[in-house]
Amino acid sequence: MDKTLSIVAPCYNEEEVLPEFLRRSIAAAEKLGLPYEIIVVDDGSSDRTWKLMKEAARGHLQVQAIKLLRNHGHQLALSAGLAHARGDYVVSIDADLQDPPELIGDMVQLATDEDADVVYGQRKMRAGETWLKVQSARLFYRFLNAVTAVSIPLDTGDFRLMRREIVDVLVSMPERHRFVRGMVSWIGGRQVPLLYDRDARFAGETKYTLRKMLAFSADAVISFSRGPLSIASYMGAAMAVMSVAFALWAIITFFITETAAGWASLMTVIFLQFSLVFFFIGLLGEYVGRIFELGQSRPLYIVRQIEGDGLSKVGTRDDDLAIPRAPHRYASLWYRHR
Ligand code: UDP
Ligand code: MG
Repeated sequence: MDKTLSIVAPCYNEEEVLPEFLRRSIAAAEKLGLPYEIIVVDDGSSDRTWKLMKEAARGHLQVQAIKLLRNHGHQLALSAGLAHARGDYVVSIDADLQDPPELIGDMVQLATDEDADVVYGQRKMRAGETWLKVQSARLFYRFLNAVTAVSIPLDTGDFRLMRREIVDVLVSMPERHRFVRGMVSWIGGRQVPLLYDRDARFAGETKYTLRKMLAFSADAVISFSRGPLSIASYMGAAMAVMSVAFALWAIITFFITETAAGWASLMTVIFLQFSLVFFFIGLLGEYVGRIFELGQSRPLYIVRQIEGDGLSKVGTRDDDLAIPRAPHRYASLWYRHR
């Protein structure tokens, strides 16, 4: 039996690229000749993105548009799309056409040939991005691998194909600071790279502000490594040794020379110690905060509306496709489910 394909793209203020993205994705999927669906998620855009999506969903049986109530961020918007995908193969891709949809065919081919569970796009080149972005990303992925327990392939983004089984595991993972590429690596299975050149954005500008990038990096490091906690203990130990040395030094100088001075060095030490203590209390707070948030178990995102049926109408798997897939266990639905 033919495999089915889902293409999932999160979109945040992508009115300039969405029509072209849909055109190229539909063309790429049609060429494959598999039953397919394209799921676009509007991550609380303030431009015409949702309007365009809705029209596309009404015009094409295969397009399903999902609107989130507000901006939840790239990784959560992607998670929402993945939770609704029904295909045997699920491809996640950015809407800005930096990842060429034409490569989806190659991914499917590679997945079949190599019997892979995951095919991930690995960038050879990144066109049209600032030197700072390319270099910081390069450094970031190397640093991440040095500190994390899970090995995350270098220079990969969220352009990848996953088998249904992998997606099911991913969707069932409750964590809310979702660093999807790390989570997929963590799941494991047979994961093979597809090398490609990353294009420049088709239009518009990056939706990753510096703030979003920093939050993203923090999620990656803290969710996938306990390294920072060990640094705290090592530093704590080193500081303790140093304090003893300082104390000895103070006592010795007390006997050898006169000691009204030393105020400056004393203050320095106190400040240094306090700053470190506060820093590590903050670091601990990060971890504790995450436990707290998990305890709260709020929904990860809120779906406002869904247009179109995607694979559930195209239907190859007769019975179960008529029923919408169970929504994400941690999603909250604004509308009443049919
Ligand atoms: N995106 C999103 N929500 C956000 C930020 C980004 O859904 O809060 C989407 C965006 O529309 C795009 C993808 O995530 O499809 C990647 O974002 P972008 O291309 O701006 O990031 P960059 O490629 O510059 O790292
Ligand atoms: Mg981009």
